[in-house]
Amino acid sequence: MTGLMQGKRGLIMGVANGNSIAWGIAQMLHDHGAELAFTYQGDALGKRVKPLAEKVNSDIVIPCDVEDLESVDAVFETLKEQWGKIDFIVHAIGFSDKNELKGRYADTSRDNFSRTMVISCFSFTEVAKRAADLMTDGGSMITLTYAGSIRVMPNYNVMGVAKAALEASVRYLANDFGPSGIRVNAISAGPVRTLAGAGISDARMMYNYQRDNSPLRETCTIEDVGGTALYLLSDLSKKVTGESHFVDSGYNCVSMPTLENLAI
Ligand code: NAD
Repeated sequence: MTGLMQGKRGLIMGVANGNSIAWGIAQMLHDHGAELAFTYQGDALGKRVKPLAEKVNSDIVIPCDVEDLESVDAVFETLKEQWGKIDFIVHAIGFSDKNELKGRYADTSRDNFSRTMVISCFSFTEVAKRAADLMTDGGSMITLTYAGSIRVMPNYNVMGVAKAALEASVRYLANDFGPSGIRVNAISAGPVRTLAGAGISDARMMYNYQRDNSPLRETCTIEDVGGTALYLLSDLSKKVTGESHFVDSGYNCVSMPTLENLAI
């Protein structure tokens, strides 16, 4: 342990199970001395999140569905009561109807567009606003995004549009909170096998394709994302804000498949 996060307290939102990106981040922060609180969405996931929280000595585990603003308020009231102030938050929340994560983006329904935007994008703004009120000595916030925000990825559809808006929110929030010493960044992770990831049609093909065509020829793990989160949430990245940082084995910089993988 390097103690990079020693004395820092923060909230992890978005652990569903031991494969969640948020869990990879939580373990890394714990290993470096952070004190953690967790939220979970509904009782079924609570049964998985509580034992994980125990493993990292966390006794603040709070239900929160971001579609229910009262439950978001309750989270920050609890943190205020228990800790008074916080130093960081991790927002690793995304959702869209899986029936619309296939086929054409053009066929997205109005209802699912709105729901996807509220859960996967606007919830970060609502959480960030409440978290900033508790970051009285400055702080750092991160959210999770994917490169479908800037380029077309098959089947990612409305999630790509929501992630584009999420990345824009990161820049606006960074500017809003910068004068208070609060930094706001996103990690743009390559495909990881998680519950949310499995909702995207042909996810396995995308996972293998990006692995085989990225400069490092490797997929990204939750521990890899955890390492970058540690950098962004610690003082190592003191002057970094408003960024979307790729953790994708370099796939984002490649414009065509590796020649040996092309059937020509
Ligand atoms: P995951 O299924 O483990 O986590 C998604 C989380 O979102 C779950 O904990 C779920 O409870 C939560 N969530 C969904 N709707 C919610 C709501 N209404 N209220 C509260 N929580 C809600 O999957 P993951 O892949 O770890 O996803 C975490 C984040 O990482 C998401 O934003 C996702 O888009 C992003 N991401 C994932 C990948 C990937 O390949 N898995 C790549 C890049 C970015």
